[in-house]
Amino acid sequence: MTQKGKIGVTTDNIFPIIKKFLYSDHEIFLRELVSNAVDATQKLKTISSVGEFKGEMGDLSVRISIDEEAGTLTISDRGIGMTSEEIDKYINEIALSSANDFLDKYKDDSNAIIGHFGLGFYSAFMVSKLVEIKTLSYKEGAQAVKWSCEGSPEYTIEKIEKESRGTDIVLHIDDENKEFLKKEKITFLLNKYCKFLPIPIVFGKKQEWKDGKSVETEEDNVINNPTPAWTRTPNELKDEDYISFYKELYPFGEDPLFWIHLNVDYPFNLTGILYFPIIKSNIDLQRNKIQLYSNQVFVTDSVEGIVPEFLTLLHGVIDSPDIPLNVSRSYLQSDHNVKKISNHISKKVADRLDEIFKKDRPQFEEKWDSLKLFIEYGMLSDEKFYDRAKGFTLMQNIDGKKFTLNEYRTLIEENQTDKDGNVTYLYASNKDDQFTFIDAAKEKGYDVLLMDGQLDSHWVGLLEQKLEKSRFIRVDSDIAENIIEKEESAKVDLTDKQKENLDEVVKSQLPKIEKTEFTVDYKALGKDARPIQITQNEFSRRMKEMAQMQPGMAFYGEMPDTYQVALNIDHPLVAGIISETETKEKEDLPQYALENKTLHQLIDLALLSNGMLKGAALNNFIKRNYERLSTDK
Ligand code: ADP
Repeated sequence: MTQKGKIGVTTDNIFPIIKKFLYSDHEIFLRELVSNAVDATQKLKTISSVGEFKGEMGDLSVRISIDEEAGTLTISDRGIGMTSEEIDKYINEIALSSANDFLDKYKDDSNAIIGHFGLGFYSAFMVSKLVEIKTLSYKEGAQAVKWSCEGSPEYTIEKIEKESRGTDIVLHIDDENKEFLKKEKITFLLNKYCKFLPIPIVFGKKQEWKDGKSVETEEDNVINNPTPAWTRTPNELKDEDYISFYKELYPFGEDPLFWIHLNVDYPFNLTGILYFPIIKSNIDLQRNKIQLYSNQVFVTDSVEGIVPEFLTLLHGVIDSPDIPLNVSRSYLQSDHNVKKISNHISKKVADRLDEIFKKDRPQFEEKWDSLKLFIEYGMLSDEKFYDRAKGFTLMQNIDGKKFTLNEYRTLIEENQTDKDGNVTYLYASNKDDQFTFIDAAKEKGYDVLLMDGQLDSHWVGLLEQKLEKSRFIRVDSDIAENIIEKEESAKVDLTDKQKENLDEVVKSQLPKIEKTEFTVDYKALGKDARPIQITQNEFSRRMKEMAQMQPGMAFYGEMPDTYQVALNIDHPLVAGIISETETKEKEDLPQYALENKTLHQLIDLALLSNGMLKGAALNNFIKRNYERLSTDK
């Protein structure tokens, strides 16, 4: 006898909704159906373990098969199956409360819709014109039944012969979705969503290379690893296991630096393994993303909002049945539990880094180049992480030595405190371009940090706020003699007339560079210090750097670059120019300046050590020097 009925939906028809709104993620039907099959199988295992099912369980694999000719895709399990009453209860009566409101709100988010309605099974209609359920319950004396439905509210249910316990879901794929009858497509989807399901998932037979072609073997092709590393306890795992699991996740990735095994059961359930990847260039960032699972079912690899932002740079897996997966992103971000999870992960990561730092500092230092970006990003974006990481974050100086914040302060405190009691951190952002200044600072006995990372300009700003009585100054922001002001500098002993004439002469010969201004300044630095040095003010340079990154600060970006030209009046060559110009009449100065080879040479050398002598000016400088060489001979 065939029973006919109407599926109990409260809106007129559920099917147009499924087809209309769930257009974007058609493929997730497979995830839904395979996880139902896995659930049914696990239920049987549970029932059997408590002795309620006494029969043979047999092979429990879930099998997926395609019959291209018949146009069907079948998902078969050997789980608990369903009786006719259970089909009525679980399949026919779908509760659709306030469906229209909800659909309006989430029409672009099929995950949300599916989750909300418990439409897991009905997602089959996204790709099928006819769906059949053939099922035999595990219960003694159960009658096998077939349910069929053509995507309208009418269904039929009839008795059938079925030998084996469990459920076959047979999808008659519709014309628009023929791709789901292709082996490659299904292989791809099973790999994406089912790779770590806890029950073996079999799709066809294993292939083997024989005589130059791929042939089918007798062996089942199991596509998943039912016990991935994160589901096991850390003490059963060796380093090799973690690394081989990493390769399973990202077959083309390089070995990770190290990992954190997460295992939480209170106040929420969360397991997972996070890996720190080696970062060689920007391309390595975000290439292999963290994957989010719910009870071993792949959900997504966009974990923003669940994992603190800076940790999205890590790789690996997070599995939590407690993260509300079937809701929109904005909801997720404001969810209380999710916040806790995010906090917890951040803490675990900091603890693990701290542990490695304390146990094996050489290893930590060796890996610093790859770690630095995470740690600085974390400290910049997460106040709590700053506090947790301030003990192990490192600073590296020009010579490659690494220090903690405290160690470094101790190192420089004595020699680099200025007259106002500020400890001055000197840094270079480019070892080669700023070489002259680095060298000059070192000659003064100062230590220079290397700050050439992507985040370092922000990082410097943060440290300046956090570290008490501290200043950060790039080595080329002032002349070495002045960069850390310790006492009043020596008085410059020039008359007004001397100053005026010198100004005129020097300024007239400084290069004209677009959007660049020079100011001339006089210093008495002793006869051994450099005659002319050109520096760029720290404050205005930083403003311009920040303007490049923040659109609201375009005003600063438009301002000219200003450089200070410091003349050392004690230097014999500068002193010579002073004595030659002091007696000259104003109208004779331009001619004098134009013809003064020493002055040109001094200015060019100062520009050169700053990397500012370029193009035609550099070419002239080189020519002039060749000429000199031949006249000197
Ligand atoms: P959910 O899985 O979220 O409960 P579904 O629409 O996917 O929602 O499934 C509804 C119900 O149908 C399940 O809870 C289960 O009782 C039953 N069911 C679905 N697929 C199977 C299956 N392969 N074997 C046994 N029961 C199933």
